[in-house]
Amino acid sequence: MNVLVWFKRDLRVADHPALTRAAALGRVLPLYIVEPDYWRLPDTAARQWAFTAECLADLRADLDRLGAPLVVRTGDAVEVIARLARAHRIGRIVSHEETGNLWTYARDRRVAAWARASGVPWEELPQAGVVRRLKGRDGWAARRDAFMAAPPVPAPAALDPVPGVEPGPIPTARALRLADDRCPHRQPGGRGQGLLLLDSFLAQRGEGYRAGMASPVTGERACSRLSPHLALGTLSAREAAQAAAARAAARPGGLWSGALKSFAARLAWRDHFMQKLEDEPAIETRCLHPATEALRPREPDAARLAAWAQGETGVPFVDACMRYLDATGWLNFRMRAMLVSFASYHLWLDWRATGPVLARRFTDYEPGIHWPQVQMQSGTTGINTIRLYNPVKQGMEHDPAGAFTRRWVPELAPVPDAFLHQPWLWPGAPGFLGRAYPEPVVDLAAAARAAKAAVFALRARAGFREAAAAVADRHASRKDPQGRFVNDRMPRRRPRARRAPAAQLMLDL
Ligand SMILES: Cc1cc2nc3c(=O)[nH]c(=O)nc-3n(C[C@H](O)[C@H](O)[C@H](O)COP(=O)(O)OP(=O)(O)OC[C@H]3O[C@@H](n4cnc5c(N)ncnc54)[C@H](O)[C@@H]3O)c2cc1C
Repeated sequence: MNVLVWFKRDLRVADHPALTRAAALGRVLPLYIVEPDYWRLPDTAARQWAFTAECLADLRADLDRLGAPLVVRTGDAVEVIARLARAHRIGRIVSHEETGNLWTYARDRRVAAWARASGVPWEELPQAGVVRRLKGRDGWAARRDAFMAAPPVPAPAALDPVPGVEPGPIPTARALRLADDRCPHRQPGGRGQGLLLLDSFLAQRGEGYRAGMASPVTGERACSRLSPHLALGTLSAREAAQAAAARAAARPGGLWSGALKSFAARLAWRDHFMQKLEDEPAIETRCLHPATEALRPREPDAARLAAWAQGETGVPFVDACMRYLDATGWLNFRMRAMLVSFASYHLWLDWRATGPVLARRFTDYEPGIHWPQVQMQSGTTGINTIRLYNPVKQGMEHDPAGAFTRRWVPELAPVPDAFLHQPWLWPGAPGFLGRAYPEPVVDLAAAARAAKAAVFALRARAGFREAAAAVADRHASRKDPQGRFVNDRMPRRRPRARRAPAAQLMLDL
């Protein structure tokens, strides 16, 4: 039988259940479809395409070695698959399940409808701990852990190719007419790069993971930096988790033990968050807690949105983080959370306006992590502690010497160190702010007070808690039968009262 393997966010040959399954069934046609309509979406960008193209070049080399060259086609997925199926007598399609955005979800439904109508079965296999058609969260963690503990699927020794298929070019961003998207410090793509990162993290960099992850200054090196590779699947999350477990067994204790536990926990969060979007794709467009739809105006204040997106808010650490993200395609977790918190609380912008701005700047854009996180950091889930970050405090704690802020906001050069994170207090501010660098776009203290008041008032409304309980029932983490916990919250700084009234669920960080 001729089997089409549809590569999506799984650009590797090792631990690739779909490829191995296809190889066992017959001749293989490995396909990647470049979908121009996808690359025109507001949550995608040329930096993601550039990374993907590098991954495809690596994948092509790996598949060449196995004997079945990667076929690349540009166009609508249904049309491309239908054409290849007709021309090459495809008897089956095999791919991995994808937890993508609403666009890919709709595209998959169209492909499934075509497959049914054409009598070509489409088999979708899991490649991570996300469970399709999950009935409820009870017992989910045990299922996820079992998948992650199973041995990775070895790459097939060789592939029998479907003959006579022209491989086709990997198009450039220019050929796809993607908007210019300069990202001079973007991470390079390809499995080779992913493996180098995994090795250096587990051999050296990871020792400083726990201490270094919260700051963008230290996090750049101390974090694994695997996110774009996991998002495009040059490495499977299972490979990463098992490599970390082997490392922990080989050299237990010291800083490594805590670091590797924290890393494993984050890989579990990955599945936990992606499971939310898998269970409820509308998380991309609708507030999880329905009452929070009324919290902020749907039409965002255009000037505030532009200031935030361009790193021109007049709040130095916020601007530095945004410009760093723009230039690198990456930012550590805490600062991603701070950027969303600042936009959602201080600037009172709807997350549907800000979420795509960040998504298209992330080389590692992963819809299943991104949208639930954006909602969580915007207080629209109804089930998570509200986190309102103080950007001045964050700057002082995580860039105390100011080198990061000065590098990314060079206009601040004349501001003395003591005033770097709040230049409006500097005696030289008049004549400087509003000229060389903007005045703060809002009064931070007043904006935080107003946001808190609005959130408290909403949470105190009749029916809020009942609706929140329904969200928790569907999406919150549970203990599994072994008593292990897959958490969806960040580690707490101090224990919380068990039955804290909803109105107190607010942290100033
Ligand atoms: C608003 C917001 C949006 C985000 N959007 C994305 C996104 O589009 N893509 C993405 O990969 N991550 C996203 N994250 C999660 C996190 O910030 C990144 O995964 C992390 O910074 C990537 O760097 P790393 O690979 O060095 O992470 P590490 O700390 O080394 O973690 C290893 C892996 O675990 C996963 N992970 C880490 N933190 C989390 C988390 N809090 N929740 C779920 N999974 C996690 C990622 O796959 C990551 O690569 C977002 C976080 C926030 C607050």
